[in-house]
Amino acid sequence: MENKYFQPEAETMPVEEIKKLQDEKLVKQIRYVYDNVKYYRDLMDKKGVKPEDIKGTEDLCKLPFLKKDDLREAYPYGLLATDLKDCVRIHSTSGTTGKRVVAFYTQNDIDMWEECCARAIVAAGGSSDDVCQVCYGYGLFTGGSGLHGGSHKVGCLTLPMSSGNTDRQIQFMMDLGSTFLCCTPSYASYLGENLKEKGYSPEDNKLKAGIFGAEPWTEEMRRDIEKALGIKAYDIYGLTELSGPGVAYECSEQSGMHINEDHFIAEIIDPDTGEVLPLGSKGELVFTALDKEAFPMIRYRTRDICVLSREKCSCGRTFVKMTKPMGRSDDMMIIRGVNVFPSQIETVLLNNGYAPNYQIILDRVNNSDTFDINVEMGTEDFPDSPKIITAKEKKLQDAMKAMLGINPKIHLVAPKTIPRSEGKAVRLIDKRRRYGITI
Ligand code: ADP
Ligand code: ZN
Repeated sequence: MENKYFQPEAETMPVEEIKKLQDEKLVKQIRYVYDNVKYYRDLMDKKGVKPEDIKGTEDLCKLPFLKKDDLREAYPYGLLATDLKDCVRIHSTSGTTGKRVVAFYTQNDIDMWEECCARAIVAAGGSSDDVCQVCYGYGLFTGGSGLHGGSHKVGCLTLPMSSGNTDRQIQFMMDLGSTFLCCTPSYASYLGENLKEKGYSPEDNKLKAGIFGAEPWTEEMRRDIEKALGIKAYDIYGLTELSGPGVAYECSEQSGMHINEDHFIAEIIDPDTGEVLPLGSKGELVFTALDKEAFPMIRYRTRDICVLSREKCSCGRTFVKMTKPMGRSDDMMIIRGVNVFPSQIETVLLNNGYAPNYQIILDRVNNSDTFDINVEMGTEDFPDSPKIITAKEKKLQDAMKAMLGINPKIHLVAPKTIPRSEGKAVRLIDKRRRYGITI
């Protein structure tokens, strides 16, 4: 694939120039935030930092962090830096891990965000020749609007489908010849399943690429989706607090996502101590937005765990790359004292020939954690005899034990009995919460 860029001057900027640009923008942005956001000014005052102490990115570590709890405390207007009359839109987080957060946008904020999404589409090979089917949810969730705006900016013929109504998605995909698909990876996998059921083979659609994000997904799941839809599947990362999807996106290498460093500074910290870790370390991703007007974010702790790398990329982009988030620090389950991430479970399932349709159920009986995983059988395995099912459950249980270090109880269930999600998948039901156990 030939390398194309939406904004080549930014995307291929020499590393020294990126640094210079970030230094300049940071000094200005800190002054702006100090003058306009009382909440953050108070945090800076408490830490004894003044705007004039910040002369460049080296001084970033002097600044206080912002956490999701700060955003909840400041809800709704406490972090707003402009007059409401200068804002043109509001979005809100999906509330995956608690109370929703609302974010405000000026027109410039929207333009910057949509350009980031346009970069992602072009990096995945998109152009004005493409028909881009957007089936992320539209509305308060940022997925739909972000990719929709990006698709417009690239000049694709945009299909604003929003999520749901799978029959209609498939009909339009076929009738209107969609070449790009944008949705959550779990919905992409569900679409693949439905296409197969309707008797379509991967060659029957015109899709060539998909841009999937908003939730964690594994390499195994990528291979599965690519095969089912006959496409290249690219990852996209972002969060409402920083704008939405498009903070980082994959290029033709499909090995990590380039972070839009002209707009965002990324740091990796130790989630326990807050200490900044050197490049290449695994830790929590922290972002400082350099251009946001309405809802600035300085050293925002994402709780997403990943690794950054500055290895030269064959696509020609110079922006630092982040690995797929290995789950959120708050996605991590502590089961019988052992740390477990849903992504580990997904990897075992896909490696053992199961689709990623599963649900984890945690409970506490007699002061001890119970750990059950419901896994759907494939239609071809169903209905097996009870004896065969028990043997398969045992085999999967052993594979889980090898990966996780603890033994879950596996229940193979009939195809299509685990609820599908049109947005982010619900993988965990933690009944221990009713005892006030926080994980
Ligand atoms: P919420 O935190 O309520 O889910 P958002 O809808 O803003 O709110 O989602 C942002 C979060 O979604 C990120 O912090 C990250 O945990 C997750 N996320 C987004 N894109 C990806 C991706 N490509 N891979 C893994 N996780 C992602
Ligand atoms: Zn690249």
